[in-house]
Amino acid sequence: MHCTYCATMIRPAHWPIFMPGRTGLRYGDGRIICAPCHRTAIKHGHQLEAVWQHVRHCFAELGLTIRWDQVFLRLQDRRAMQQVGANTVGYAQVVICRDRIDSRVVMLYGMPAALAVETLAHELGHVWCCEQHVRFSPDSKDEEGFCNVLGCLALQRLGQQHNAPERIRAMFANPDPVYGEKFRQQWQTMQKLGWNDYRQQLLRTPVTGHVMVAHGIKCCANVPGIQVWVI
Ligand SMILES: [Zn+2]
Ligand SMILES: [Zn+2]
Repeated sequence: MHCTYCATMIRPAHWPIFMPGRTGLRYGDGRIICAPCHRTAIKHGHQLEAVWQHVRHCFAELGLTIRWDQVFLRLQDRRAMQQVGANTVGYAQVVICRDRIDSRVVMLYGMPAALAVETLAHELGHVWCCEQHVRFSPDSKDEEGFCNVLGCLALQRLGQQHNAPERIRAMFANPDPVYGEKFRQQWQTMQKLGWNDYRQQLLRTPVTGHVMVAHGIKCCANVPGIQVWVI
């Protein structure tokens, strides 16, 4: 048995203590999680609030404005998340209609804190793009790369906390053509231009008129030995 989030081996409870592997537990939905990952797991409202505040602070530092009071955030179990896609750990739905904006971000219950931070920053990146009418053209998949840039920047602001450095390494090593390759392309562009010019460039291509968007876009973030899906 291996931890769903760090792939470390879990020692079954009946094995003697000197046998290799970490202690861990199994969630009701079947996920196995090692004790160190579980210590940071986001399961309750006050933990989710801490993740929210961290990401909100990062967005403020980056000059990204969102109608925070109109974003509805909640945790959901794996069965409900699987209706969106296999191994989904988060998704965003944004509906913009005339002056009204309703955003909903749903995240998987019980993820380790660093993955939760990365996921929330990514999803709120989609919300920001919708609210600001940012359109990635000609390849709309570049938006996934941009959202992962935000996920990575939010992880960087965790410093050495939790397993943020490992998550960052996994993002840069992700072989996925969208969530790995597009991320690295966007990251390079951001580094070349500098954050402020990069953000300004995105804001220069507004979509006119009213748009209605409802999407759940899949993002793959790899950790050695396992795959988790961020939407
Ligand atoms: Zn683990
Ligand atoms: Zn996405």
